[in-house]
Amino acid sequence: MNKMQIKQSVCETIDQNRDKIIAIGEDIFKHPQLGYKEFYAAQLVKQELEALDLTTEEKIAVSGVRARKESGKPGPTIAVMGELDAIICHEHEAADPETGAIHACGHHVQVAAMMGVAIGLIKSGAMDELAGQVEFMAVPAEEFVELAFRNELRDEGKISYFGGKQELIKQGYLDEIDMAMMIHSLNMPDGKKVIIGGTGNGFIGKNVQFIGKEAHAGSAPEQGVNALNAAMIAINNIHVQRETFPDQERVRVHPIITKGGDIVNVVPADVRMETYVRARTIEGIKDANMKVNRSLIAGAYAVGANVKITEIPGYLPLLHTPEMDSLFKDNAASIINEDEIVMGADFTGSFDFGDVSHLIPAMHPFIGGVVGNLHTREFAIVDPETAYILPAKLMAMTLVDLLFDGAKEANAIIKDFKPEMTKEKYLAFLESISGVIEK
Ligand SMILES: [Zn+2]
Ligand SMILES: [Zn+2]
Repeated sequence: MNKMQIKQSVCETIDQNRDKIIAIGEDIFKHPQLGYKEFYAAQLVKQELEALDLTTEEKIAVSGVRARKESGKPGPTIAVMGELDAIICHEHEAADPETGAIHACGHHVQVAAMMGVAIGLIKSGAMDELAGQVEFMAVPAEEFVELAFRNELRDEGKISYFGGKQELIKQGYLDEIDMAMMIHSLNMPDGKKVIIGGTGNGFIGKNVQFIGKEAHAGSAPEQGVNALNAAMIAINNIHVQRETFPDQERVRVHPIITKGGDIVNVVPADVRMETYVRARTIEGIKDANMKVNRSLIAGAYAVGANVKITEIPGYLPLLHTPEMDSLFKDNAASIINEDEIVMGADFTGSFDFGDVSHLIPAMHPFIGGVVGNLHTREFAIVDPETAYILPAKLMAMTLVDLLFDGAKEANAIIKDFKPEMTKEKYLAFLESISGVIEK
């Protein structure tokens, strides 16, 4: 078969299994679980991969699952990833009434599309025509949430990092992966269906504790040290830094107070805050982070309180590999209209796939078929064909391009790729931004 015929046969197979692929996504949607707890979705993926005669490995980085399909010919290994975790949005009508968990970031779509790729490549027999290997990875914990729970996992020695891909990299699951791809769903305006080559911010996460001194709020406030006032001044200090953030760094600092005091007639002595410090480059993140720390410390200093800042490595900015994007775009243009495709976009949110993109060639397009912003009550699928089936076909077709003819394309991209970091440098970087500052 020539390349066109292989792609056609893969797409026909995906079409024949359309209902199955969508059902996988809907099943996961009905059973949302937060990061490092996604055992329902992982079990479902495991069953579906095994139904394709693949050998699975489960509980990778706590709750992930993976399986590899070999072509039988030498060549690179390309990972197709799907994220398993939900977010919390109590306001969404389909949210789990107890936990508030809901797939309002469309990760159920990613997993279904990943399974669509597996079904398309394997059931069509396409892998026999290609070289190398494709690894299907259902990955945990993309959303950087429930920091206290993840701290517990870390204390128990189950994880080192809060992000699933950070953990997979650390544990060596990407050591033998030469390239990676995945998608995110996105509400797109004006009938657009695909955005290719978008960039995103990286960030550092922070837990902050202001430590004051309790006192009777009515009869002896002068004997207290008000930790809430320290936090309030710190937030204002952060706001006055904003004019110093370079426009091109797209800095985002968005603190929340998670504990404002204990009881109203006692001067607050223990006030907690969480924030991210996001920017477009590592230098930009470090610069903004230094200013935020200065602001926090100054808030404490002003009222005579103490502050404890715990720095948690967040995610790296999202990079992209133009050669992979270009293959994906050509495939998109072969099945949807050119004017439904957007090249390049500027996102200020963060993705832990950014970390992967610093190490190996990586592709992360955004796919429509949904309405409502991510993480909100409005998020919903309106066009299952576009949301689920289109990305399955486009990723599978791009894999055919990469691995056809002895994996010529993939090998050329890998040969020219200059990673921003080695794994060792990456792990050293994560360590360099971990730690506690006490003033
Ligand atoms: Zn999200
Ligand atoms: Zn997401």
